[in-house]
Parts: sequence; C-alpha cells; structure tokens
Amino acid sequence: MNANVKPPFRAESMRIAGKLVKTDDIVEVFNPYDATVVGTVPAARAEHVREAFAKARAFKPNLTRYERQQILQKTAELLRDRKEDFARLITAESGLCWKDSLYEASRAYDVWSFAAQLTIKDDGEIYSCDISPNGKARKIFTTRTPLLGVISAITPFNHPLNMVSHKLAPAIATNNRTVLKPTELTPLTALALADVLYEAGLPPEMLSVVTGNPSTMGDAMITDPDADLVTFTGSVRVGKHIANTAGYKRLVLELGGNDPLIVMEDADLDKAAELAVTGATKNSGQRCTAVKRILVVNAVADEFSKLVVEKAKKLKSGDPMDPATDVGTVINERSAILFENRVNDAVAKGAEVLHGAPRKGALFAPTVVDRVPYDCELVHEETFGPVIPIVRCPDDIAEVIRISNSTDYGLSSGVCTDRLDYVARFVSELEVGTVNVWEVPGYRIEMSPFGGIKDSGLGYKEGVVEAMKSFTNIRTWSMPWM
Ligand code: NAD
Repeated sequence: MNANVKPPFRAESMRIAGKLVKTDDIVEVFNPYDATVVGTVPAARAEHVREAFAKARAFKPNLTRYERQQILQKTAELLRDRKEDFARLITAESGLCWKDSLYEASRAYDVWSFAAQLTIKDDGEIYSCDISPNGKARKIFTTRTPLLGVISAITPFNHPLNMVSHKLAPAIATNNRTVLKPTELTPLTALALADVLYEAGLPPEMLSVVTGNPSTMGDAMITDPDADLVTFTGSVRVGKHIANTAGYKRLVLELGGNDPLIVMEDADLDKAAELAVTGATKNSGQRCTAVKRILVVNAVADEFSKLVVEKAKKLKSGDPMDPATDVGTVINERSAILFENRVNDAVAKGAEVLHGAPRKGALFAPTVVDRVPYDCELVHEETFGPVIPIVRCPDDIAEVIRISNSTDYGLSSGVCTDRLDYVARFVSELEVGTVNVWEVPGYRIEMSPFGGIKDSGLGYKEGVVEAMKSFTNIRTWSMPWM
C-alpha cells in the first residue's frame, strides 16, 4: 500500500453536461495537515448553475434497467480498482487518515453495487379493485417514473466520496439527471468520481458538477426553476436556509446529529468503552452519527471512564498520510479552535480533561472529557471532532432518556445494555431515527433506511432503497380486469 505518495496538483474544471468549464475566479483546496494547496476549482457564478440545469432539463434519459445496472456496476468496479487513488485524494483534501479514507472508498463500492442490484428490480404494485361492495372488476397498477425536472444535490465535506455517492447512485438507478454541488472544502474527489461515471458510460447530460462558494452560487442551486428536488446533506443552519428558500420543491434534508452512546449499569464496560472511543473518533469524529455524547449512569461511571482513557491512549493521532495513523486532522484550524474553546468552556463549568494533547493547527487529538454537564455547549451543540465527552447521569432510565432527548437533534443513538426492558424503552422513547443496541450510532449498511427527525431531518430517509423512492414519482394506472 502506497499511502505516502501525494496526489499531483489538480487545476480542476467543472463538468457541465460533460464539458470542462473553467472560470477566471478559483477556489483553492487546502490540505488541512500541512496547509499546502492540493488543487483549485472554478468559482461558479449563478449563470453556470443555470446552464447546468438547463442542459440537464433538455436531455431525456432513456437508459434501460440493464444499461443502468451496467453503468452502476462498472462504476463500483472502477472505484474498487482505484481505491488507493481515491483514498489518497480524500486524505489530501480532507485530512482524514489513510485508514478512514480506504474505508470510505470501500463503502462507496457498496453504494454503487447495491444501486446496480436494485435498479433491475421493479417494485410496482397491483391493487385488485373488487375488494369491497363499492368495488369493480378493475386493477390499479403502480409504476415509478423519474422526476420531470432535475435533482439538485448539495454535499458536505466529511465523506467526500460516500456522501456524493449516496446522491448520485440512486439518481442514476432511477434514470434521473443531477446537478451536483460538492462542498468547496473537498470538491476534488467529487470531480474525480464524475470522470469515473462518464468512463463507465453515463450519458454526460445526466450529471453536471458545479463548484464554488455558496455565497455566490448557493441560492442558484436551491431556486433553479428546473430543479424539482433538492437533496442536501450538511449542517442544520444551511438545511433550514434551504427549507426557507426552496419554495415549492421536494426536499430531502440530512442534517447534523448529536448522537448519544448510552451505557447502563448492566453493560459489559470494556465493550462499551471500545464502542465509545471508536464511535467518537473514527473519521476524526466528523460523522453526522459520531458518538458526540456518552451518557453513562453513575453506578458504573468511574470504572467506565478509566477504560475509556485506556483505549483512547492507544490511538495514534498525526500525519493523515501515515498508514499507522488512527485519527487525522479535522477539516481546518478554525474548527479545531472551536472544539478547543468548547472543551475549555466545559472545564470552566466543572468538567475534567482526562486525556488529550495540545492542538497543532487542524490536528486535534482525541480528547477524553469527564463529568461534562449535559447542557454545556460541548455536548448540547454538535461538536464535529474527536472529543470523547462523558456525561454522568442519575441511575434512572427515565432521567437518561430525558437527558438524551434534551437537545434539538434526533439522528441516531447507540445503547449498551442486555436488559430487554431497557431496550424496549429506548426503542420507543428516544427521539431519534435509529437505535443501535450494542453498536455505534453510525452503524448501518448502505441500503438500509437512514436519517433523522427534529433538527436532524424531516424524516425523509436516505440509503439506496429510500433514496430511489424519494427520487421518483409514483404513477398509478388502471384498467378493466377479471
Ligand atoms: P455545511 O452545511 O456547512 O455545508 C454543506 C454543503 O452546503 C456544502 O456543499 C456547502 O457549500 C453548502 N452550502 C453552504 N451554504 C449554502 C447556501 N447558502 N446555499 C446552498 N448551499 C450551501 O456542512 P459541512 O460543514 O460541509 O458538513 C458537516 C455537517 O453535515 C454536520 O452538521 C454533519 O452532521 C452533517 N452531515 C449530516 C449527515 C446526515 O446524513 N444526516 C451526513 C453527513 C454530514
């Protein structure tokens, strides 16, 4: 494995219906670890976005299910064959460590190959109408059709390949056209993926990628008259802006999380501590479903906290390109400073730092903070970095559930207990989209339904199966029948 070869500098173009488009203004993409410039992308203006939507709208996709299956599977295979090239690019532009980037590339393979397998399945239904005294000898059939207009897809920085794959694969599987705006922080991976798709045979009119600063082209992505649906993954702040701006359009919003890992008194504490540390630090803690609060009951908190520190000490934080590194940088120094300030604020309110290291630029080492008040900013807001905050809770499941539900977020959760009565209460009372027993909140497969409630999302799910549903219209048609 050759992690240490840096990818060559890329002076990128946009892909508008497959055409390479540059602009005079550019956005630089930085390596968060050494602050070098990894590449540049054009800074699109609203007119570029308009052009991309108009070209997409003018094209009528007519790929058969077989053709879509072939393109999707070929994409999966190209990604698998080039996983190290993609991992190198992801690490260079995001600071995620080599191990995390390789894992991301393998997840993307799953997304594309599941979409390939699902596109050949017709999920149409048949309703017989002679089923009541009001019935008739007819049948009603359902069939899914692509959207009439275009999908507008906007993606975040934390999974530069997989988040983009979760938008594009279901869109292609359902014969839709997409205009993608990847984040300005990690756009290079998305452009490389677009080239793989064209190489796999995707008609270029079915995918455009526009790049640049949201301040100059963000609203154009949300309000374009040819955009029928906006699918967005990112922060609550931007998600709510989209909800307020988009008007009469379908919206899929996958927003921030503040997921708890709950540890009850009967739990195997070693196993729970392992989940806590892994869940809080993988992907540099930058997963919407990272463990952002550990809620442990007082009865076992002392012993649990010792185990967490032991496991956190084993993690190697440092150069993201080093294959031995477990935790790379966060996305930029500004974010690392914010986390540092939040830890200091928690300490001022009574918390105690049990393990950590001084921040170096965007390198923020896994930091164990115990006795964190449940309502301080570190755990009440989404802290998108490798902080491992332990919140001690009363020995009472009702209180644990109340504290868990006390934030505005409702994405996922993990619970560590073997008691079925507890499990039943967590499943019915936690205000979240997912409850994982004895797993990290982020556990899923790429096709299972995924998404949150409250500020984490409107309840519309992602995952390949659900995304394919939300990217289609259901048409019913009926005819006389026996
Ligand atoms: P962000 O909201 O800052 O940016 C996301 C995208 O929105 C980027 O492409 C950005 O350029 C764009 N954007 C920003 N302002 C815009 C505007 N006014 N109009 C249109 N587009 C605009 O989020 P981020 O910092 O890149 O990502 C981290 C966030 O994403 C975290 O909150 C994380 O929890 C969330 N996230 C959620 C999920 C999920 O599935 N629920 C998955 C991954 C990440």
